Amino acid sequence: MEKRQELYAGKAKSVFKTDDPDKMVLVFRDDTSAFDGKKIVQLDRKGMVNNKFNAFIMTKLQEAGIPTHFEKLLGETECLVKRLDMMPIECVVRNVAAGSLCRRLGVEEGLPLNPPTFELFLKNDALGDPMINESHVESFGWAKAEDLAKAKELTYKVNGVLKALFAEGGMILVDYKLEFGVFKGEVVLGDEFSPDGCRLWDAQTKEKLDKDRFRQGLGGVIEAYEDVGRRIGINFDA
Ligand code: UDP
Repeated sequence: MEKRQELYAGKAKSVFKTDDPDKMVLVFRDDTSAFDGKKIVQLDRKGMVNNKFNAFIMTKLQEAGIPTHFEKLLGETECLVKRLDMMPIECVVRNVAAGSLCRRLGVEEGLPLNPPTFELFLKNDALGDPMINESHVESFGWAKAEDLAKAKELTYKVNGVLKALFAEGGMILVDYKLEFGVFKGEVVLGDEFSPDGCRLWDAQTKEKLDKDRFRQGLGGVIEAYEDVGRRIGINFDA
């Protein structure tokens, strides 16, 4: 599979075209950003860790019957994916209150959310990724109503699979963000799943093991990502 012209460079990944119009190569870089790209640094090994983390999770989700764009690992920092027509939307499920929910609603971090909440955000850095609702998605034509409904159903299904997976490793899946697209008419999970896009706490100590370590300047960011990975069975040396 020949990697060709760069199509797009995001904040942490670059996307390349291939010979096959239905496939793309994702390259995970060491860049780490927060606050809509206002804080950016390079963290050694991050590209490799997130590439392998994402491959492991996408494979688990696929095994659980959730369609994903992931095809195969190509190298330490690269993987092959299906080329989706992406919805410009972030789907967020929260099992425990943290981050923007606490700021918005004045609730304390750590409050259990039962049932888990489901939120939508528009992917738009210039606007600070504003919160939106289902009617906005339909009125502005960001996705078809039935595709959004499917994305919501799949986002909840992911919760069942991953809450259990992280619980086995002694962790709490606090919240996470997913992005979906359409491939030949089917709604498919795209983008990535890594500790960059979710919150994970140690179940006993409630220590933060995700990107909040970077956002809050706690240090040991990649060490925490690797610890999470090992606890769910990922071998980063393979
Ligand atoms: N998230 C993300 N990308 C974004 C915004 C949020 O991956 O652009 C993830 C974030 O890591 C967390 C969840 O979505 O796991 C909920 O984020 P929140 O709304 O609390 O925003 P934050 O506090 O990160 O600004």
